[in-house]
Amino acid sequence: MLLLPFRTPARFYIYSAWSNRIHETSQNFFSRFSTSRPGRERISTAQQAGLLPAEKPTVEIYGPEFTENEILGLKTNGPDMLVLSISEKCNFRCKYCYYSDSYRDSRPHSAKMMSEETAKKSITWYLGFKRDEFRIGFYGGEPLLNAGLIRNAVKYAESVGTIPPVFALTTNGALLTPKICDFLAEKRFETFVSLDGPAHIHDRYRKERNGAPTFEKVMKNLRLFRTNHPAYFEKFVNFNVTTAPPDPLPAISTFIEDNPELFRGKIPKLSPVKLSPDNPHPFFTRDNIANRIDYSPVWNSFLNSCTKGNIPGAFERSVCEAAIARIHKRHMKVMERFVTTGGQCVPGKRCFVDAEGIFHMCERINGCFPVGSVEKGYNFERIASYLEQYSSLLGERCNECWALRLCRKCIPMLTEGKKLEESALGAFCERQKKTLERNLVRYCETREKQDNCFDWIV
Ligand code: SF4
Ligand code: SF4
Repeated sequence: MLLLPFRTPARFYIYSAWSNRIHETSQNFFSRFSTSRPGRERISTAQQAGLLPAEKPTVEIYGPEFTENEILGLKTNGPDMLVLSISEKCNFRCKYCYYSDSYRDSRPHSAKMMSEETAKKSITWYLGFKRDEFRIGFYGGEPLLNAGLIRNAVKYAESVGTIPPVFALTTNGALLTPKICDFLAEKRFETFVSLDGPAHIHDRYRKERNGAPTFEKVMKNLRLFRTNHPAYFEKFVNFNVTTAPPDPLPAISTFIEDNPELFRGKIPKLSPVKLSPDNPHPFFTRDNIANRIDYSPVWNSFLNSCTKGNIPGAFERSVCEAAIARIHKRHMKVMERFVTTGGQCVPGKRCFVDAEGIFHMCERINGCFPVGSVEKGYNFERIASYLEQYSSLLGERCNECWALRLCRKCIPMLTEGKKLEESALGAFCERQKKTLERNLVRYCETREKQDNCFDWIV
């Protein structure tokens, strides 16, 4: 059903996916949506109250018309971002690394490096599209192991393009020498450094190949980077923080507070480590209850600040802001007859080029779903076929789901080896709906105390 009845300790609500609105109701009316009542009766009550339309909306995920338009867009504008995986080699061996043996289906660490020819061909292809902005990212393994290629690729992109591209780098921070930092600052790179918190947290999993800790080295580089380029550092350098069990949150929060010179003005990007049922590492096994990280104290602190009219701290914002923004900034427009569900990306909107010049839809998908190559550009038939499979796998499941317009799903979540499988989504749906419901309760309960408490979110 496209409705979610939910309550806070004080009030009763019904969220309608059709209107994307949250309606406050009386307890009496709310009780008419009890699951003990027949589904048809609940739908008819909702229709009479204007919470659902008289005719059931048809939900279409990537229907033929949508696919055609998206492909037309890709043919003209190309990807929003080109990401060059210039080094499959890495000087670290982080225990949770996607390119480790902790995960099925991902490639292992390797010594492959992207050639200059592949990088230049990819850039020529990308800069040939009609766009107002070009974004080129450098990724690995550790991309700074191929720093010469970064310099040459930047020089090349600046010489052939008419619009100067925005460059980005994701690095583990160990090779941020003063010379490299000068270059990044000069070219205004958006630099993302992986830093998981203080030494005793960071060094749990982020280790060198020989098992040596990495925290001290990375911090030394960061401090020098900041001293040499304070204005650039404040604006353009940010952090990727992977949260992995056992619970690292209090330590990360204190670390951010204790190091304002590094974190000032930044909302670090927090990513929970990918837990999976069959992960060989005991800490990354989803079914192990001890691996759950308790985010509720951070949520409480975030919501308390909002209630008091304050903007929460950086750490609280990095944990909670996106989830609340998704609810607060939703488009409260009635569904069209056909809607596409929110959250999923179109393959090709981002183009991840591996070291051999094969295009993939992003860095989080295994190698079995290429979308083209540097030699031939995009393979639009393939892109259309992924969309078609995605649409037919999700159509039935999503078109009755209240979470339709808030849920964030994507094609990589459906991968099972070489196939896309709807069953791979089962556990995700459970978690997603539970989380969304909890966040709707948090959202409404906080607004009951202070109605404009989230208006600072842009
Ligand atoms: S630095 Fe990145 S690529 Fe290298 S092992 Fe760690 S997570 Fe993997
Ligand atoms: S929670 Fe599952 S069924 Fe519901 S919209 Fe998301 S993917 Fe579809």
